Amino acid sequence: MGWISEEAISQFQEIIDNAKHIVFFWWAWVSTESWIPDFRSKDGLYNQHDIQFDDYQPEYLLSNACLYEEPEVFFEYYRQKLDCRNIKPNITHKKLADWEMQWRNICIITQNIDGLHQKAWSKRVLEIHGTTQRVYCDKCWKQFNPDILYTSKERVPHCSCWGMLRPDVTLYWEQLPSNAWNESISALQNADLLILWGTSLAVYPANSLIHFFRGRHFVIINKDATPQDNYAELVFHNKLWEVFTKIS
Ligand SMILES: [Zn+2]
Repeated sequence: MGWISEEAISQFQEIIDNAKHIVFFWWAWVSTESWIPDFRSKDGLYNQHDIQFDDYQPEYLLSNACLYEEPEVFFEYYRQKLDCRNIKPNITHKKLADWEMQWRNICIITQNIDGLHQKAWSKRVLEIHGTTQRVYCDKCWKQFNPDILYTSKERVPHCSCWGMLRPDVTLYWEQLPSNAWNESISALQNADLLILWGTSLAVYPANSLIHFFRGRHFVIINKDATPQDNYAELVFHNKLWEVFTKIS
């Protein structure tokens, strides 16, 4: 457990007590603590041994090009690597949901696609890269239960209209969902406290979104130093829960 100064904690406590609109900017792959590390099962229904993922770039396997040009490869990879059905929220997700219950003025902006914030009962979650928890037909736009990607007998699942069913996840070479993006901008513009967490903000588009924040208090919680540390009022080089357990 990292060392935290009492002075920094009491300063953070005061900022939080007075904040009206808090935005958590959460840009890491959160769920590393809850994530299934690798292939679901060697004997799993979908483990087709004729597809060698090593032959492909990881970015390609989660790209729009792969989905439409080699959908069998895409769905195989997706089923093996992004199966979120059995992962559970960790203590961090639960803590944020608790805070929202108590204050109701918290917004989480995240690139995570696992839906774990909602499973922990957070309400206001803006998913900049979409979510695995929604599946739709790319032709008629009908929504489906996300489990259908796993329960379908088809290697490439289809709608009754013959459109392809796909996860509502932003793939490489696809545009970010404009609703989540625009709502994130307005949440940042209205926030008086921004808590940046688990990110160095080095990559687009996270680094461009952050400029919309105009509020007074900017706090960073990140294990390692970030280029933004100089701009923050408070910086904790700790894990989130190490800080939060000291905040009442
Ligand atoms: Zn359809």
